[in-house]
Amino acid sequence: MNLDKNQGLSTRCVHTGEINDQFGAPHTPLYNTSTFVFPDTQSLVDVVQGNRPGSLYTRYGMHPNIKTLEAKLAALENAEAALSFGSGMAAEAATFLALGRKGVVCIGDVYGGTFELLDSQLRSLGVPIHFLLGSELDKLEGVLKEDIGLVYFETPTNPTLEIFDIEKISSLAHEYGSLVCIDNTFATPINQNPIALGADIVVHSATKYLGGHSDITAGAVMGRQELINEIIPWRKNLGQVPAPEVASLLCRSIRSLVIRIERQNATAHEVAEALDGLAGIKRVLYPGLTSLEGHEIARKQMNGFGGMLTIEIDADYETTTRVADQLKLIRIGPSLGGAESLCTQPVTTTHSGLTEEERHRRGITPSMIRFSFGFEDPADLIADIKQALESM
Ligand SMILES: *Cc1c(COP(=O)(O)O)cnc(C)c1O
Repeated sequence: MNLDKNQGLSTRCVHTGEINDQFGAPHTPLYNTSTFVFPDTQSLVDVVQGNRPGSLYTRYGMHPNIKTLEAKLAALENAEAALSFGSGMAAEAATFLALGRKGVVCIGDVYGGTFELLDSQLRSLGVPIHFLLGSELDKLEGVLKEDIGLVYFETPTNPTLEIFDIEKISSLAHEYGSLVCIDNTFATPINQNPIALGADIVVHSATKYLGGHSDITAGAVMGRQELINEIIPWRKNLGQVPAPEVASLLCRSIRSLVIRIERQNATAHEVAEALDGLAGIKRVLYPGLTSLEGHEIARKQMNGFGGMLTIEIDADYETTTRVADQLKLIRIGPSLGGAESLCTQPVTTTHSGLTEEERHRRGITPSMIRFSFGFEDPADLIADIKQALESM
């Protein structure tokens, strides 16, 4: 089924891109095949030359499950086109290589792998890389004057839930001819649509909320067709497509995306309010709380505040670790966006590679615990955190 722009997001999540086969499957069945055959040579030539749409070879992305997935991904971000990948990092790497070779300016805290990819691998290829903290946004215009190709950031960020104004940064970047790419993994397309706010490209680690069940690793890029066209050969020849099984599972996940995210938004908000002001907790960082510095911008550019929340315990690292270890329902582990609630101490995982001084500059303390809330009952999650705090 083709995308109907008048349809609501939930309808598009269920129906866009689905192929109804001759057996009457309600959605695209899994085509577990690496190649496709043709009745005659001319039929193959037509597909190779692009005169007729069709499947050809899975690594090229010319595969029904991958095409179904990409129609859904584009619909999610209201983009002209989308590409799927074997991981979020694969999506980012192809995007940087296709569109960021003139230079990348990265704003605020980003995923550890993104930082490493930019700071080590891309820099080693001679790509000019600039990092600006959120507190250094006044320097952005100066950097853009150096003819930088790509501005890249996350909002909300991990783990401090810093919020950046997508509209404002995009219009400044465009004045200087730079493209803007947002990692929308934390917010999800349900809560935030960067392209509608002026960004050019959106990337996702579909391993997280889009997958939503902690059972697949995948990535996505959405944007204008002309930009996606530049990324296609990089994905093809770096061999980054997702396996058909993964594409099929991700489509299954996207069908329930809206109801999952609405539930996770509501749970995180309820937990945030329950924890705010509780003895033993110094700060609750959640975009939906008016106490968060970026709350006003979040209200303006987000449709929901997400399922991620960070608390700062009013104690040292050892006590914070004891609190985390005392949690029973909420498991300790990296990653996010699944059915089960998880927590992690950023100093032990996501930001363990940074020096203490660098973490301090970013406002990341040893007393922070980051939560990803799943589908459990909010009352059980709140009770679990409260009983863990009693161990302080
Ligand atoms: C996990 C994550 C990534 C990397 O995604 P993978 O699927 O693990 O490659 C990128 N950005 C953010 C914000 C993430 O949380």
